[in-house]
Amino acid sequence: MTTVNEATKPTTLPEGTPTELYINGQWGPAAGNRSLPNINPATEELLADIAFGGPADIDAAVKAARAQLSGEWAALPGAARGVILNRIADLIEEHAEVLAQLEALDIGKPVGQPQMLDVPNAVATFRHFAGWADKITGATIPTSGYMGRPTHSYTVREPIGVIGAIVPWNTPLMIAAWKLAPALAAGNTLVVKPSEDAPLSILYLGKLLAQSGLPDGVVNIVPGDGAVTGNALVEHPGVDKISFTGSPVVGRLIQQKAAETFKRVVLELGGKSPQIILPDADIEAAVAGCAMGLFFNQGEVCAAGTRIFVHRSRYDEVVAALAGAAEAQVLGDPFDPATTLGALVSEKQRNTVLGYIEKGKSEGAHVAAGGVGVDGPGYFVRPTIFSNATNDMTIAQEEIFGPVGVVIAYDDVSEAIRLANETQYGLAATIWTRDVAQAHTLAGQVRAGAVWINGWAAIDPALPWGGMKTSGIGRELGWAGILANTEEKVVTVVL
Ligand code: NAD
Repeated sequence: MTTVNEATKPTTLPEGTPTELYINGQWGPAAGNRSLPNINPATEELLADIAFGGPADIDAAVKAARAQLSGEWAALPGAARGVILNRIADLIEEHAEVLAQLEALDIGKPVGQPQMLDVPNAVATFRHFAGWADKITGATIPTSGYMGRPTHSYTVREPIGVIGAIVPWNTPLMIAAWKLAPALAAGNTLVVKPSEDAPLSILYLGKLLAQSGLPDGVVNIVPGDGAVTGNALVEHPGVDKISFTGSPVVGRLIQQKAAETFKRVVLELGGKSPQIILPDADIEAAVAGCAMGLFFNQGEVCAAGTRIFVHRSRYDEVVAALAGAAEAQVLGDPFDPATTLGALVSEKQRNTVLGYIEKGKSEGAHVAAGGVGVDGPGYFVRPTIFSNATNDMTIAQEEIFGPVGVVIAYDDVSEAIRLANETQYGLAATIWTRDVAQAHTLAGQVRAGAVWINGWAAIDPALPWGGMKTSGIGRELGWAGILANTEEKVVTVVL
């Protein structure tokens, strides 16, 4: 068993990190002074008590957001909204170090990962949508006329209104940016509900929003749990749309509840994404990419490439290399530069992952690497590779959300595609091959919102993001992100 490195720095909350609610430009306690403890998952120590918003707080936040739909914000032209979005990007960039530290402290991930992905991606997302803010156009549409008279018809794209943004704990700053930037570019207002497990970076972002020139009330942040705080947002009649990223179980509930008030809903849900390695692939690159797709962010990634399908002729070689990559991971303090794999976010998540590992063993898969937890403090699990697995095993069908991969052999490419598609999920897929024709053919056959050829998680704010099947409904980012944050209105003049 690998020992966990000695903790270095920092272990306490960086100075100036907010812990209260942000409503109408003011920081304050929750109604009734409720709070929730926030735990550092790498040390199991208390980081802070975070205000826990209830229905009254959500109501105040929604009212502030609604007021701005006919206030200062509504009067700003797109170009001015773009200037503010660029300022937000600048501020995130200026505070990149503390934001990365907060992600590492709150989630347990190695600090180099938010430095490399979460923070720069949030900056890029605000910059991308700053560019869209003054380019949200409609169309002129020729018609057959009206009662013999000619007409002039055109469409406009208007903001949807107040958007409730519900965010998970795995990459909170980045996912909050995916929801905020397109919604703000299109002129909406928001109430953001961070996860109870990782609210810190979003609260810090609130501090930056306050400095950005965004009018008070345009973005409100109400931390709390799902059952009370999230539910109050979903049920509130003053909310026009829920943009949710999280588990399918909660996504289903939200869609059902949102139907009561005809809220628009975008659901970004879980995944069990395949990685298909064809026999002609660059195996070294494929193994490195698969290892990243399994172990980045401790495998707590919606698009984690957790089902690896390998042609039988290369199977043993790939299993051995992936097992080696798993053994080579260095578990420990998220602030030690040597660490490559941090703690899981909570005790509950660690126990869930260990439960799946035991299930895999009991269903007959072979543990090629890992397969155990690590003595605390901290919620660590050894990166695990299962071989001799079949696609119908629980570990190959259910989202584990931890550093666990399942390697499955196939004999011909049609079998690989069939197995890849035999899942309730459809978020992402990766294909490793040097054959361009084969790559495009398979990309067309796999049922997933994103297909990557020879690289895992090639995401960008310009590209639409979202899943098929149980992985979700709707898209975020790119032009699709603007469409998802606007209502299309048609105007017809009878001439
Ligand atoms: P979760 O569904 O438990 O919680 C997500 C958010 O929903 C949290 O803020 C939570 O407080 C809130 N919530 C919970 N119950 C609620 C309710 N009844 N009403 C309203 N809000 C409620 O998910 P999680 O454990 O935080 O995140 C992990 C899941 O998120 C995984 O399934 C993962 O695949 C998914 N995810 C998807 C994407 C994507 O882009 N598709 C990205 C990241 C994570």
